[in-house]
Amino acid sequence: MSGPRPVRAARGTELSTLGWQQEAALRMLQNNLDPEVAEHPDKLVVYGGTGKAARDWRSYDAMVRTLQTLKQDETMLVQSGRPVGVMQTHEWAPRVLLANSNLVGDWANWEEFRRLENLGLTMYGQMTAGSWIYIGTQGILQGTYETFAAVAAKKFGGTLAGTITLTAGLGGMGGAQPLAVTMNDGVAICIDVDPRAIDRRIEHRYLDVKADNLRHALQLAVEARDARKPLSIGLLGNAAELLPQMLAEGAPIDIVTDQTSAHDPLAYLPVGVDFDDMASYAAKDPAGFTTRARESMAKHVEAMVGFMDAGAEVFDYGNSIRGEAQLAGYDRAFAFPGFVPAYIRPLFCEGKGPFRWAALSGEASDIHKTDKAMLELFPENESLHRWIKMAGERVHFQGLPARICWLGYGERDKAGERFNEMVADGTLAAPLVIGRDHLDCGSVASPYRETEAMLDGSDAIADWPLLNAMVNVASGASWVSIHHGGGVGMGRSIHAGQVTVADGTALAGEKIRRVLTNDPGMGVIRHVDAGYDIAESVADERGVRVPMREG
Ligand code: NAD
Repeated sequence: MSGPRPVRAARGTELSTLGWQQEAALRMLQNNLDPEVAEHPDKLVVYGGTGKAARDWRSYDAMVRTLQTLKQDETMLVQSGRPVGVMQTHEWAPRVLLANSNLVGDWANWEEFRRLENLGLTMYGQMTAGSWIYIGTQGILQGTYETFAAVAAKKFGGTLAGTITLTAGLGGMGGAQPLAVTMNDGVAICIDVDPRAIDRRIEHRYLDVKADNLRHALQLAVEARDARKPLSIGLLGNAAELLPQMLAEGAPIDIVTDQTSAHDPLAYLPVGVDFDDMASYAAKDPAGFTTRARESMAKHVEAMVGFMDAGAEVFDYGNSIRGEAQLAGYDRAFAFPGFVPAYIRPLFCEGKGPFRWAALSGEASDIHKTDKAMLELFPENESLHRWIKMAGERVHFQGLPARICWLGYGERDKAGERFNEMVADGTLAAPLVIGRDHLDCGSVASPYRETEAMLDGSDAIADWPLLNAMVNVASGASWVSIHHGGGVGMGRSIHAGQVTVADGTALAGEKIRRVLTNDPGMGVIRHVDAGYDIAESVADERGVRVPMREG
């Protein structure tokens, strides 16, 4: 019987499949489960609470087996982490189509999801876990870096030097926060209940030091702040306990946010429960655990609102903690905004979002060569240059070497085509995969996060991610996915992803040009439709056709 075992993607140019498109899907599935990449690989959990790459080990084995024999004109269908069919399609079609965690509207809640999950019928795919393009904490690092840069620009004269940020959650995504703050020259206190999460971030150089206790953390923070030196400090404890305590003691905090796994009440530790008992308690009494977790989240959010009232810049970082606190009866939960309307939406209007690529060779030098190519391709883009330089120096690769940067409409296709040429002319040792997060400009409907407070009130319209997935299938992506519940939990989001392989062939070049134009194009048209001026200018300047504006 198949069971947990270490998984690692192959490196180099020897294929165990019938072509690079299939090989790429296989390596990226395996890379998601690499112990260097995944948070809990033995449980097939990649990140984000219980975001999985495969439903169970038998399904994983079946996907590997199927990918190894899949032909160039065949497509494997994956239903919530289990391969359910192979169909004859054609060369332009994706090699894999995935649908993860989708439920019919009235049934789209955690309770029903857990019931179905316990029956072995579904799995939680998060965003890039179930769609095989998670690249470790770097994946979120640039977005987090850009968000803190926007906070600095809005409130602190363009730098976080001399400020203290308070946050919690040092998991797969949240672990990017300390480095993103120090990259903006600030000081961060980062709380987590799991000592391993703290140690792991120190090991990966995302977090600088671990404090002995709250007092020690504050002392280190104030010293660094006064010296205007960047420093990130890990603090062991429960955020729902520590934040109210820090507020009551008048801790000098300038910025507050949170990235605990609040989207899933079974992944948020309630006050009064030992971390070591968390998993068994959640499994034994999910309803009781949920109630207590939500009560704790209400305390946590109440303290965040208290810091806001005291003058701090406070924002929800996309984990739905405001929604959970509201469910527990806290009526000021939405007093502070989500990070998208506060800082990110103007970028979405330009089709900008988290473009990423990974080197299937396994060689870091391939990524360094692509870094250089990016600097040459976009000489005028200063923030891109700053980011690529810092990432080259400070980002620790997890699993297959990879890079992320935010690129917009008219830029992603240019980068993708250049990468494909670099594979074709032998500059790179092997093909690249090019993908993105589902947290992108035109691929997600998520009223507590990416589509919060849309200008025309269209926050919950989920036609857009479905159109996004369909246009990527029609444009030649290598694998395409539609998910429900990523980021913010069941019932709160629908989103889509695509990954396209640059294998150096002319056909791949044609596909890349279309996919990497049309995919961010969805972001532009989505925001034109909602009435954003920036999106209208981008559409006019860069020639994005919007029928309702023609004639
Ligand atoms: P994760 O499960 O890997 O990590 C969550 C961490 O929170 C864990 O280390 C856990 O120990 C800690 N934690 C749980 N309860 C706690 C408590 N009461 N006090 C202190 N720490 C506690 O999850 P992740 O991948 O890091 O994602 C975190 C959240 O951020 C999720 O809700 C995710 O959906 C959201 N997210 C936001 C963005 C964004 O761009 N803003 C992107 C991805 C994910």
